[in-house]
Amino acid sequence: MKNKLTLLIFGEIEFREDEEYLKFQFRLMYALLLMAAFFSGAFILAEWLGLNTLPHAQLIVIKIYFAYSLLLSSALRGRKHRFLAIAWLFAIASFLSFLSTLLLVPEDELRILWFYLNLSIVYILLGQISGIVITILSIVCIFFANQHLLIPYSTNALTTVILSLSFTSAFFYAYTSRSISFFRRMTESNSLLRELATRDPLTDVLNARTYYEVCDRLISLALRTGDSFSVLFIDLDHFKSINDQYGHEAGDATLKEVAACLSRHTRQSDVLGRIGGEEFSKFLPNTDLTMAMLLAEKLREDIEKLTPTIDGKHIRITASFGVASNQQHHQSITDIQREADQAMYRAKQQGRNRVINFEQLYESVEIKS
Ligand code: GH3
Ligand code: MG
Ligand code: MG
Repeated sequence: MKNKLTLLIFGEIEFREDEEYLKFQFRLMYALLLMAAFFSGAFILAEWLGLNTLPHAQLIVIKIYFAYSLLLSSALRGRKHRFLAIAWLFAIASFLSFLSTLLLVPEDELRILWFYLNLSIVYILLGQISGIVITILSIVCIFFANQHLLIPYSTNALTTVILSLSFTSAFFYAYTSRSISFFRRMTESNSLLRELATRDPLTDVLNARTYYEVCDRLISLALRTGDSFSVLFIDLDHFKSINDQYGHEAGDATLKEVAACLSRHTRQSDVLGRIGGEEFSKFLPNTDLTMAMLLAEKLREDIEKLTPTIDGKHIRITASFGVASNQQHHQSITDIQREADQAMYRAKQQGRNRVINFEQLYESVEIKS
């Protein structure tokens, strides 16, 4: 319901997580445009109903401002890239219309307050530099316009206006700089939290849940484009005995070294995850069985060459690899991972420290029968 309403008001528009502040500015801008149209519309209506009388020139200004606000709001709807241009156009038009109110509507003693409103809007929508510029511009224009007013403000009143505008400006300067840094820090902590939730803390490769999610997305893409893909399932051999012999910490250090080794020969598009205690899986997009076997063999040799050193002792570590490549019936990572799993178990059965692919399981069955 809320989403439908947002869609209706702001149009179809997506904000990235690092655009949280822009999202707030965009929505505020949109609300201000509608409010500007509403209030200027109310003035026009009041004039028409005879409830309020405005000088003719000011009525024309308000009518233009009304149409202009509506035009800008429809130009902004669903288009976040126009935000800055529209915010500038709105700020300039508002400034000019408030200046014309100052000059043309002497019977409204409080019209000077519109400049304060404009100041806060510029700080929030256009930032601190623009805020300072509009403060100076407002003070200068009020000062010079005062000399042409039918009933000029007294020197005392002018001093109050200048001081309070400067104070308001200083307040908004501090406030906007605080809120921008708050939004920035919030975005950074969010991305850090997401990073922590997606990575395995020990090895820094993807955790199982994220690995499967990423693979499923890549598989649906490959199914659409018809590209090949393969999976390597890697299980360290006799890992329990490493823990038993050298202690859990040595086991952890070994896991880290193996993960780093598996990450080294990774293309940008490959995905590596730790899917169990001493089990890793590597997803290879655009890779057929022959290429996957070559890479698996290379990784097996690299792991064999690793010599994690614990208390001056070199630990020897090997791994068994199961390889599976895409087939018609592979619709998800679970389908292909299951076959890589079976191939890995065959590698264990055949003596460990070797690479077996799923198709080899069928070959041996055929030879037996
Ligand atoms: P196999 O060659 O048949 O795979 O033998 P294995 O000992 O590697 O396999 P098994 O499944 O019997 O044991 C896996 C061991 O991995 C048991 C567990 O203590 C160890 N392990 C799992 N997660 C961690 C971890 O985070 N740190 C450490 N140090 N060890 C772990
Ligand atoms: Mg295992
Ligand atoms: Mg194992």
